[in-house]
Amino acid sequence: MAARTISRCFVVSTRSYSSKADKNVAFLGLGNMGGYMAANLVKKGFNVRGYDPSKDALSAAAKNGVSGATSIAAAVDGADVVVSILPSNKVVLDAYLGQDGVVKHVPKGSLLIDSSTVDPNVPKQIFPVATESGVAFIDAPVSGGVMGAQNATLAFMVGGNKDDFDRSLPMLQAMGAKHFHCGGSGAGQVAKLSNNMLMGITGMATAECMNMGIKMGLDPKVLLDVLNNSSARSWSTEVYCPVPGLVPTAPSSRDYDGGFKNELMVKDLELASSMALGIRSPIPLGAVATQLYRIVQSRGYGQKDFSFIYQLLKEEATKK
Ligand code: NAD
Repeated sequence: MAARTISRCFVVSTRSYSSKADKNVAFLGLGNMGGYMAANLVKKGFNVRGYDPSKDALSAAAKNGVSGATSIAAAVDGADVVVSILPSNKVVLDAYLGQDGVVKHVPKGSLLIDSSTVDPNVPKQIFPVATESGVAFIDAPVSGGVMGAQNATLAFMVGGNKDDFDRSLPMLQAMGAKHFHCGGSGAGQVAKLSNNMLMGITGMATAECMNMGIKMGLDPKVLLDVLNNSSARSWSTEVYCPVPGLVPTAPSSRDYDGGFKNELMVKDLELASSMALGIRSPIPLGAVATQLYRIVQSRGYGQKDFSFIYQLLKEEATKK
C-alpha cells in the first residue's frame, strides 16, 4: 500500500515563489544542520524564533539573528510555519504530539515541516493528528550534509499534500537548492532512506575494490582513473573516494573529518533495515553494510566520515 503512495518523484526548479503571509518561522533543533538552516531563513528575511534544549545551540543561533524561546510551546506561539530538524524518532514524536508539543500549541492554519531523518511511520503518525487539528504537515528530510546546510544547497525530499509542498517552497528555497515532491506522507523519508542505503552500499563497495586493487600492486591513482572512466563509476568513486589523497575535497583527504559521520550512516541504515523488514523487502547488501559500519562504530570511529570503512578493510588486509 505504502509503495503506491510514493511511486512518483517530481523535481521542482529553484525559481522563486512569491511567499504569501508565511513570515514567522519557529525553528526546532539548532544543531549541526539546524543552526545553519535557521540562519539561512533569517538571511532571506524570515522572522525566526528557535528552540533547542542546548543553551550553547541557542546562543550560537542568536548570533545569526535567531531569537530564542524557552520551550516548544513558546517557540510556536504565533508561528505561520514550524521547521524542525531533530535527532530521532522519539524526539520528533514527542516534539510534535507530546503534551507540550507543536500540534497542541501552534496556531490553526500553520504549516509544519519536519526535516529530521526518521522512520516513515513517524510522519504517518503525525500527519493525521495535525490534519485533524487544522494544521498542515510535511516530511522534508534533507541530503547534502552540514556543508549543504551552511551553503543553502540542500536537497529536500518531501512527503505530504502537493498544496502543502507548494506552500513550503519559499522556506525550502531559502535553505536548499533542490526540492522534490515524492508523494504522500512518509514518502520523503522513504526516498531519503533509499538514497542513503545506496550511498552506504556504494561507499562500502568502493572501499573494498580500491583496497583489493591497491593490495594487488596497482597505483591507487591509476585504479581510480580506470573506475571513473569505466562502468563502475559512481558518486563514491568520483566525489567521495575513501582512499586519502586521491580526491582533495573528499573527507578521506582530511583524516575523514567534516563529512557524513559513520554514526549517522549506521542510524540511517538501521532505519532503512527496519523499513525493509516491515514490507519483507530483501536487502542483503544493505544488511551487510549495516553490520560493517556498526563494526567501524564499535571500534571507536563513529565520529569519522563513513568512508573510514576503507581503513578498516585495509587493516584487515595488512594482517595477512
Ligand atoms: P545534532 O545533534 O547536531 O542537532 C540536533 C539538535 O536537536 C541538538 O542541538 C539538540 O539539542 C536538539 N534537540 C534535541 N531535542 C530537542 C527538542 N525536543 N526540541 C528542540 N531541539 C531539540 O544533529 P544534526 O547533525 O543537526 O542532525 C539532525 C537531523 O538531521 C538528524 O535526524 C540527522 O539524521 C539528520 N541529518 C543530518 C545530516 C548531517 O550531516 N549532520 C545530514 C542529513 C540529515
